[in-house]
Amino acid sequence: MVRVIMLSPPGGGKGTHSRWLTRQTGAAHISSGDLLRAEVARGSRLGRRVAAYTARGDLVPDDLIFRILMPAVVAAARDTGGYVLDGFPRTMPQALRSADWGSEFSLTSQAVIYLNAPEEELVKRLLDRAQREGRADDTLGVIRHRLAVFVSETAPLVDYYRGRGILLELSTDRPEADVQADLRDWLESRGLMPSLDPRH
Ligand code: ADP
Repeated sequence: MVRVIMLSPPGGGKGTHSRWLTRQTGAAHISSGDLLRAEVARGSRLGRRVAAYTARGDLVPDDLIFRILMPAVVAAARDTGGYVLDGFPRTMPQALRSADWGSEFSLTSQAVIYLNAPEEELVKRLLDRAQREGRADDTLGVIRHRLAVFVSETAPLVDYYRGRGILLELSTDRPEADVQADLRDWLESRGLMPSLDPRH
């Protein structure tokens, strides 16, 4: 079962393509943003601490992230043997700690998919989504801040995973079906996805 990390700036398409990959593979979809929003919606003390960061577009501190996410990752990996991580890791300390954790539990990530599009396209998508979903952090000022946080905190992970030889970089400034075809080809070529081609 496939174990993949999806990396993208806000609006880059990691949610959309994570859901697709989950349908294709049966691996568990774990969205850090969804788990955090669920915690906020519960109104717990932890949720109130989380909301103070997410509302501003700042990253939630790593210790809270590990506390909320790790039980979900462990359960999912146990149930399905795989995962599609959507939004996690997104800092170097998160990446290093989850790599340690992965080797400890024999759940090392096999591939990292980095999805990107021009900044103005990202902003446009997020503003469109704001109309449909009304997420508290999809306002122009917070969007710009989230994009800046991506550049300073998360972009270094691209080089880190490239150096480990597991990175695929794809532009999402084109039809979803084209992105998915490239993603499928690459995962198939690495034996990470069952082939659609009957000759294989
Ligand atoms: P987006 O990629 O559009 O910003 P997400 O739903 O992935 O949307 O994340 C929403 C917010 O949740 C982030 O702005 C951040 O505050 C918080 N968050 C999500 N994942 C993480 C993480 N791995 N580490 C720290 N904060 C996170």
